[in-house]
Amino acid sequence: MTDWLITTDLDGTLLNHHSYDATGIPEIIERLQHNAIPVILNSSKTLSELTAWRHQLNLLSPVIAENGGVMAGDQINLCGKAVVDYLPMLHAWRAQQHAPSFAGFSDWTIDEVVDATGLSLAEAALAKDRLVTEPIKWLGTDSLFTEFKSYLAQLGLQCVAGGRFYHVMGRHSKATALAALRLDVSGWLPNYQFKQDYQILALGDGDNDRAMLMAADVAVVMPKPDGSYLKLATRPGQQVIYSALPAPAGWIQCVEQLLFKETV
Ligand SMILES: [Mg+2]
Repeated sequence: MTDWLITTDLDGTLLNHHSYDATGIPEIIERLQHNAIPVILNSSKTLSELTAWRHQLNLLSPVIAENGGVMAGDQINLCGKAVVDYLPMLHAWRAQQHAPSFAGFSDWTIDEVVDATGLSLAEAALAKDRLVTEPIKWLGTDSLFTEFKSYLAQLGLQCVAGGRFYHVMGRHSKATALAALRLDVSGWLPNYQFKQDYQILALGDGDNDRAMLMAADVAVVMPKPDGSYLKLATRPGQQVIYSALPAPAGWIQCVEQLLFKETV
């Protein structure tokens, strides 16, 4: 029987923010799966990127892509507004401004995505394959940013800060998809038998992880690239741990201590 379900951000949480290093992660994921503990990638990355990571890490679980906007196991559920529907409106708004405002993945070539992210060419191509979210760099003034965000709100959209970019997207979060998964946990994870009182362990580092971390029974907050931490307003009974080490070593250390009761 499964006691735990792990859901985790990737960049800066499972993978090192600067180098994307994942040393030791395949080994601990194998150990978790051997102990019937599923690991659900829950990222701002695209389904194409997460599918590649799922294969690389030999994961059996579904994935949650594009900040909760896409859930994919045997079936794919879109929880967000499709970019093909809203991007033309954002670009029309931008064309009406008399000052610089933003540039995003849909504007950039694969080479430009490589420059902005440090991904390889192949990875950057997967990162451009977006369904419901548009990562942008804000290039304008703070006051124009306020106007932009109120325009997004009129369209039922929002702008959320991630590790590298702002993400324009519908009113969903990493917690929205997690809640949907929790409602039908045996449907999404048919290979696991969950205990009635199983616990969710969530790991993240950025603002876009906040809702997911707050929805978890145990939250692990990883240090941001500058060494600071996201501050969480915790619920009564919720355990929050601030990882001393960055990814990937911090992820491994916290999971080992919490789930396997090992001290390093
Ligand atoms: Mg992150």
